[in-house]
Amino acid sequence: MSKADYYQTLGVSRDASAAEIKKAYKKLAMKYHPDRNAGDKASEEKFKELSEAYEVLSDPNKKQTYDQFGHEGMNSRFGQGAGGYTYSGESFNDIFGDIFGDIFGGSASSRSRQRRGRDLEYQLSLSLEDAISGKEVNISIPTLVSCTDCNGTGAHKGKSFSKCPQCDGVGQVRMSQGFFSVQQTCPQCRGRGNIIDRPCSKCSGAGRYEKTKKLSVKIPAGVDTDDRIRLSGEGEAGGSGAVSGDLYVTVNVKPHKIFQRDGNDLLCEVPLNFTSAILGDDVVVPTLDGKVELKIPKGTQSGKTFRVKQKGVQSVRSREKGDLYCRVHIETPVNLTKEQEELIKKLDESFGRSKSKHSPRQRNWYDSIKNFFE
Ligand SMILES: [Zn+2]
Ligand SMILES: [Zn+2]
Repeated sequence: MSKADYYQTLGVSRDASAAEIKKAYKKLAMKYHPDRNAGDKASEEKFKELSEAYEVLSDPNKKQTYDQFGHEGMNSRFGQGAGGYTYSGESFNDIFGDIFGDIFGGSASSRSRQRRGRDLEYQLSLSLEDAISGKEVNISIPTLVSCTDCNGTGAHKGKSFSKCPQCDGVGQVRMSQGFFSVQQTCPQCRGRGNIIDRPCSKCSGAGRYEKTKKLSVKIPAGVDTDDRIRLSGEGEAGGSGAVSGDLYVTVNVKPHKIFQRDGNDLLCEVPLNFTSAILGDDVVVPTLDGKVELKIPKGTQSGKTFRVKQKGVQSVRSREKGDLYCRVHIETPVNLTKEQEELIKKLDESFGRSKSKHSPRQRNWYDSIKNFFE
């Protein structure tokens, strides 16, 4: 399915500034937001497209990838299953809290967004084998966790509250700014609607404290460097019982002694005896699931690459499997005996005047040089 260009979706030029992109999104999103077009499928679709376009173009990293590779780049780098963008069905407030914050003095964001725990990132180094076959890993991360004594509320035993006098327990107050009248989060209770009478002694009323969290993470088979696995809600705990952030596990695959990875393909270098290259041979090459025989035809040149189908990596995002590419390097024999040297000399003499016939590449090279100097 081909997707519309993100810039076209937002109706901005490719060199639009961040402010212009934001402005364009805001205008269109207001018009198509599901809250304003209840039940209208077309508006909902349009709104999803807008949100996706904005999510990419408002993030400098994603924008750069998109500018360089288009949708293709977004799919491979930020695709499904490895973090990625999905329309999350957030409420009007959640989406516009950030966007409209600057107009309304920065406090229009919703309650949950305001005190939501921070997202955390964990860099995970994996061997190529583990990245390819998948693995369950145990990780430890220092983070803020929800206080168990007060259930994250910050109040003694989770109960010691009374109604907030400023907002009368509503959590919101009405403020006027020019001709805008806007609902704001109550500054005294910060949207909670109540205030703590006696703070929890374990967390001093913060509702969370520092702890090293141990987690078991399932790494799916086929991940590659820079893939991100999102663990929803496993980031920092939110303040005063608000929702937790997410944890992103970013994969880094360590270099391998035999194989190099290129997407779903694997590459390996195969040293080849010069007699095998001349006469042809069957050589054994390694693959991820055992050894296979590779047929080397007569007269194989150094640098020639052979493909072994389906012996690469199973993609983490599709059923596709890559191939294994074996590049041969022909090795010049060393440590020859006198006798062997004599044999080589004999071979050399046997070429006689027709030497160039046996070395087509060298002949072409000499011809090029000749032409170059003439
Ligand atoms: Zn507590
Ligand atoms: Zn209040």
